[in-house]
Amino acid sequence: MNKTKKQALFARKLKEQQKQFVASIPKKIEAITQQLTQLSSLNHAALQERMQQGYMLLHTLSGSAGTFGCPEVGQQSKALEKKIKQLKDTALTPQDLMQIELLLKNLTDSTNNHTHESLNQVLQDTALHHPENLRIILVEDDAILAELLTNQLTNFGYQVTVLPNLNNLESAIVEIKPNLVICDIVIEDDALAGTEALKKLIEKPHIAALNLAIIFISGRDDMEARLEAVRAKCAGYFHKPINIPLLMDKVYELTTIEKHNPYQILIVDDDVTLTNLMKHILEHAGMEVAIANDPFDALQKMEHPRPDLILMDVHMPKCSGTELAQVIRQHQNYLGIPILFLSADDDKDLPMSALIDGGDDFITKPIQPDILVSITESKAYRSRQLNRQMTEDSLTGLYNHSFTENEIEREINRADRTHRYFSLAMIDLDFFKAVNDTYGHGVGDEVLRSLSYLLKKRLRLTDVIGRYGGEEFLVVMPETSIEDAVCLINEIKDSFSAMPFFNPEDERVFYVTLSAGIASFPECHTREELMTLADQALYQAKEKGRNQVVCATPYTP
Ligand code: GH3
Ligand code: MG
Ligand code: MG
Repeated sequence: MNKTKKQALFARKLKEQQKQFVASIPKKIEAITQQLTQLSSLNHAALQERMQQGYMLLHTLSGSAGTFGCPEVGQQSKALEKKIKQLKDTALTPQDLMQIELLLKNLTDSTNNHTHESLNQVLQDTALHHPENLRIILVEDDAILAELLTNQLTNFGYQVTVLPNLNNLESAIVEIKPNLVICDIVIEDDALAGTEALKKLIEKPHIAALNLAIIFISGRDDMEARLEAVRAKCAGYFHKPINIPLLMDKVYELTTIEKHNPYQILIVDDDVTLTNLMKHILEHAGMEVAIANDPFDALQKMEHPRPDLILMDVHMPKCSGTELAQVIRQHQNYLGIPILFLSADDDKDLPMSALIDGGDDFITKPIQPDILVSITESKAYRSRQLNRQMTEDSLTGLYNHSFTENEIEREINRADRTHRYFSLAMIDLDFFKAVNDTYGHGVGDEVLRSLSYLLKKRLRLTDVIGRYGGEEFLVVMPETSIEDAVCLINEIKDSFSAMPFFNPEDERVFYVTLSAGIASFPECHTREELMTLADQALYQAKEKGRNQVVCATPYTP
């Protein structure tokens, strides 16, 4: 679907949601009126019950009306909500009753003259770039090098367009809108062709607007070339022969994981219409959103995918947002997930500040769509950064040992409860000691990083990839049968064995292979059993000559 179509569809869906909400207002007000009329005839207990019910209904309405572009209804329900809150637990005087009646009338009237603003306008700016495949333009006149780099980049999932010279670079940039341009400097005997061309291009407004990342690759290693590259605003410079793992590292950094790994957001709020609207807005901005309208469902929703951020209503039936936050914090693996509380402005007096964690925050209803998007994005970004430090291995960026083990337990629980299956692969590099011994530890590290990039690129976002030991990796693949897992890991094994590595000392190319053992759930039922069987299968793969995948349980492919 193209962008304008998407935009139109989004606008239409939004309009429908708003229409639905507006249509539901009279019913909501009727329900409130039922609770809050003929109060004088009630005994104390019944009165309190009615006031409480009315208060809850008003709180929900005042929270969502403004967000749906009905400020008048929002204000009037807020006014009545405040009054009811004030009067709860007291005996009502005739004056109180009159005030309630008056405020109720105002609320009913507000539906007649509500001016619902067009939400579309506010939302236009929230449409950030959707995660798409990342595009790279490679300008390289050396056809062999161009092919080698293209293979590597496509292996990692990038879409690569190769240009043998600079003739069509501008039109290619305009058409492809690449995330990154990798450009040779010396082209067809012109010693600074690449830098000169890009320097000119980035000055043109329509190119500047694309905010391209640029990397130069060159046989030149002198000050002039490097300086000209800086003046062409390059983000990286690689002297030939290129250290490919390092280049991949840079490419990966520049294109950032966030762009193709959308933020996972969980919304916990009992207000169904409001949550649907928020989901819609956040999805439009490129995030992935799960909803728990019942707070008791929240923990289960968090299992998969793990949210980067939770948006949590403060007032919910069954339990409050802060109570739920504490339950969530009882789980070790959820400690790092920040919570953004959706509160009404008068919630400020609640004794909550003492309960919230450093990363937590409040956002008040009614929620402005653009503010919702920007706060959610920046919180989710920070959450990922912090979380990485706690759960990731610093060399490869994969999950570390303990986090991976916790994730296996979590996956077992989930698969057990949902009667599903999953597979686990244990991967180990072959003769890796010899790689270190021959080329040095630094080169060995590059090999480890390259394998981790390959795993990240090839596996799904829901898969858990961990560095389990020095040169040993663990992959948990939910919803994957052992047959599919064997296929997939075999493909990765083949790609990896075809990946050239360079020894920077003498520019020699060398290759590394891997072996893997696979076990699956529910054939193996505990973490220990899964690990032992995968390990035994890995041992067999090594015994049988390495560079192969063996599975723990027999099957016919
Ligand atoms: P096999 O095919 O049987 O797995 O042989 P191998 O040489 O890969 O296995 P061995 O267990 O004998 O050696 C593993 C090597 O991995 C030894 C260790 O120096 C190296 N290694 C472990 N962690 C790192 C690391 O972080 N960086 C580097 N460069 N090397 C590491
Ligand atoms: Mg609520
Ligand atoms: Mg090994």
